[in-house]
Amino acid sequence: MLASKRILAALVLTVLGGTAQAADDIVVYSSRIDELIKPVFDAYTAKTGVNVKFITDKEAPLMQRIKAEGQNATADLLLTVDAGNLWQAEQMGILQPFTSPVIDANIPTQYRSSTHSWTGLSLRARTIAYSTDRVKPEELTTYEALADKQWEGRLCLRTAKKVYNQSLTATLIETHGAEASEKILKGWVNNLSTDVFSDDIAVLEAINAGQCDVGIVNTYYYGRLHKQNPDLAVRLFWPNQSDRGVHVNLSGIGLTKYAPHAEAAKALVEWMTWPEAQAIFAGTNQEFPANPKVAPSEEVASWGAFKADTIPVEVAGRRQAEAIRMMDRVGWN
Ligand code: FE
Repeated sequence: MLASKRILAALVLTVLGGTAQAADDIVVYSSRIDELIKPVFDAYTAKTGVNVKFITDKEAPLMQRIKAEGQNATADLLLTVDAGNLWQAEQMGILQPFTSPVIDANIPTQYRSSTHSWTGLSLRARTIAYSTDRVKPEELTTYEALADKQWEGRLCLRTAKKVYNQSLTATLIETHGAEASEKILKGWVNNLSTDVFSDDIAVLEAINAGQCDVGIVNTYYYGRLHKQNPDLAVRLFWPNQSDRGVHVNLSGIGLTKYAPHAEAAKALVEWMTWPEAQAIFAGTNQEFPANPKVAPSEEVASWGAFKADTIPVEVAGRRQAEAIRMMDRVGWN
């Protein structure tokens, strides 16, 4: 039976873009680049014999493509970063909710969609980075305190156009309300030492070069830069440890509405929440496993333990539009 199925699969081999693709391969549309996803899919294929094909692009065109393909879907799964993006995909109606006792057991509730449309796979903290030359960690406390006079002309931020900052702002609004949040954002903008940067690496380099003293970045960028430059005069600080905790966001995955191989795709998602896959997937990008039973890599663990905000990350999506308007009002470009 199994052998004849294999023969059948071989017979229906089709050629797509020059590469042979079996009709029952799982297809993933991913906004994460090849080198961050290939190791975990290779491990799945080695274990199960199931092939995983992937197409990488920015999240917006991938989502548009899934929408345009509709019932003629070629993608089974959408893999992307930030709850704000996953929530957008959910709003576009391109995802298919499914419940799984495995996922429910392996991934904490705050890192999953409340409608079961997507689940987090790996976590990243968006935290404070500081100059070890010009800042003592004792001077730092919270994200909110970066709005204080003390940091005037000393703060570097990435552009407000990046979803990471929109999500951070969204959780700020959820926590403090609109009025207080706008005050905090105004303080941040007032404290900027220079124009906003296009990426987190540039923020870290600016701190290292003395252009500013503090900034807000995703942890894995620190990991990447630190690997290249072990003498980096920048460290990570975990803010809000006596209140809500550090802002955590994620990379995650959702089943597409018209997934041609839904059952196989669900099995892959479930497998990705188990320790073996979690260690590979999170470790490849120096992220934290979303499954709390799995330890982070040695390098990631070396940044120290911290208390994370337990706010459901989908708040980042629900309040995204509000966050964007607020950032615009305060002049965060
Ligand atoms: Fe990133």
